[in-house]
Amino acid sequence: MSLDWQTIAEARSKVAKEIGTVVKDWGGQIPVALAYPNSYYLGMSSLAVQVIYRLFNEQPGIVCERTFFTKGQPISLESQRPLMDFVALAFTLSFEMDYFNLVEMLRRAGIPPLAEERDERHPLLLAGGPCVTANPEPLAPIFDALVIGEGEEVIPTLAETLRREVRAPRLELLRQWAIIPGLYVPRFYQVEYDGLGLKIEHEPFAPHPVKRQWVRDLDAHPTTSVILTDETKFGDMYLIEVSRGCGRGCRFCLAGFSYRPLRERSVDVLLDQAKEGLGHREKIGLVGAALSDYSQIDALTQGLRQLGAQISVSSLRADSLSETLLEALVEGGTKTLTIAPEAGSARLRSCINKDISEEEILEVAQRASRHFPQLKLYFMLGLPGEREEDIVALAHLTQKIKERFSGHLIVSLSPFVPKAQTPYQWAPMAPLPLLEARLRYVKQNLSSIEVRSESAAEATIQATLARGDRRVGSALARTKGKSLPAWKRALARQGLAYEALLEERPHGTLPWKVVDNRVNEEYLWQEWKKGLKAQNTPPCPLTECLKCGACDEAFYEAKRKTVTPAR
Ligand code: SF4
Repeated sequence: MSLDWQTIAEARSKVAKEIGTVVKDWGGQIPVALAYPNSYYLGMSSLAVQVIYRLFNEQPGIVCERTFFTKGQPISLESQRPLMDFVALAFTLSFEMDYFNLVEMLRRAGIPPLAEERDERHPLLLAGGPCVTANPEPLAPIFDALVIGEGEEVIPTLAETLRREVRAPRLELLRQWAIIPGLYVPRFYQVEYDGLGLKIEHEPFAPHPVKRQWVRDLDAHPTTSVILTDETKFGDMYLIEVSRGCGRGCRFCLAGFSYRPLRERSVDVLLDQAKEGLGHREKIGLVGAALSDYSQIDALTQGLRQLGAQISVSSLRADSLSETLLEALVEGGTKTLTIAPEAGSARLRSCINKDISEEEILEVAQRASRHFPQLKLYFMLGLPGEREEDIVALAHLTQKIKERFSGHLIVSLSPFVPKAQTPYQWAPMAPLPLLEARLRYVKQNLSSIEVRSESAAEATIQATLARGDRRVGSALARTKGKSLPAWKRALARQGLAYEALLEERPHGTLPWKVVDNRVNEEYLWQEWKKGLKAQNTPPCPLTECLKCGACDEAFYEAKRKTVTPAR
């Protein structure tokens, strides 16, 4: 397959604008392409992509280059080579809807999407990311191996084995990969379906379930920008991950449950990383699931201001927003404050375990009015337990916020999508006509406010992938286009009804039980039941706790070694 000059010129032009690109000689090294099945702009805005790039390139004998979804044949940016030249392609997947792009990327690269149609001439296919960790099954027919958990814990051993076994028959290499903790090699697991139920058999050497791997001590693993370029969402800042995981337990949140437990970096380590970043950018972008929850946020903010840094943050909670942080954001030029009430009524917020009172939300709106020209609110529609009165309450709450906030108000509406490994993994998805009617109601009742919404039809497609099994994966590998009618037809060819995939799942029929996310199923089941009764569960305690199964003795031992000031 010949490459066109425009594609090569575009790749070269992107690299020319970057600082930090790793360009290695291929001689004697194993080439791995880090693939992101969406645009360069989005991929380079992801700290995960940047860190995996650094991790692969740190491994001896490995040269890692990046590739993104473009209009034409995908090539690597660094040396502008076609993907067939690589020994392995490692996909980072953040969103289920990108699965369609990844299949298209493979086709355009001349690589058959189904693993059973590939052989030793083709690159090995790997993938990781939060949706892979939660439910790898719809990707099982496509990939040779899937990373379950955090890359820092799996990639060094994976790369070392690849280096050692690269000349071995492919099956032997995959057998060696299958015994690495956190690496799931689907071909060694046979799955039989009976309706939505399933039976899993596996080779004796292949562990079942495959346990999620996670970093106990974040300080030992820096997670910062690696490549700086203006062609990203965060082009003017140096990104630093402050914390990973979240202890709040919002029942809909995939990231909240897939990255348990909450772990924090120490202030000194973060300030050292910021000093490095300030050599390149004036602004430091702090990344974490809920930055205002970071136990030392004021100390970190003050330290960064003393270094002369401007500050930006990825996410905030309305009930833990300190004045010091607000002032730092204003100083840093932040124009929009974003908060996520998620639901309009206190009852529905209790259902989803988002324990924020209306008073707290209104108080933040009032404070925001003094500092920011724009306030953005995130809400979800179609949540389990949602009633019509909750939608009315959403419109009322927004009106009350508008009375307190004098700037420009934006409401962002997302249809709720049930995700694997969360308490809502059994929940039904709201029917498409109901979602569309509720979206219309909110828009009509907030006609004087800017309301943005995601497509409800696309959300239902996302739900079929998020809770899909290998048959959904077979449909994915064979489909062309991602419109709802095309997707329904592709599912039907595999004997699956789209509507059935959106219904409530009976206990014991979940395809992702091939992986153990470390949060035990009984805990999730109790959370699902509590949600239906609008009962809250308190956040993770500051004391040692083994309640949901995510924390373990090794974690607490690592924690005891670091001195953490009391909150
Ligand atoms: S074991 Fe306890 S502290 Fe750890 S994540 Fe689960 S609930 Fe939170």
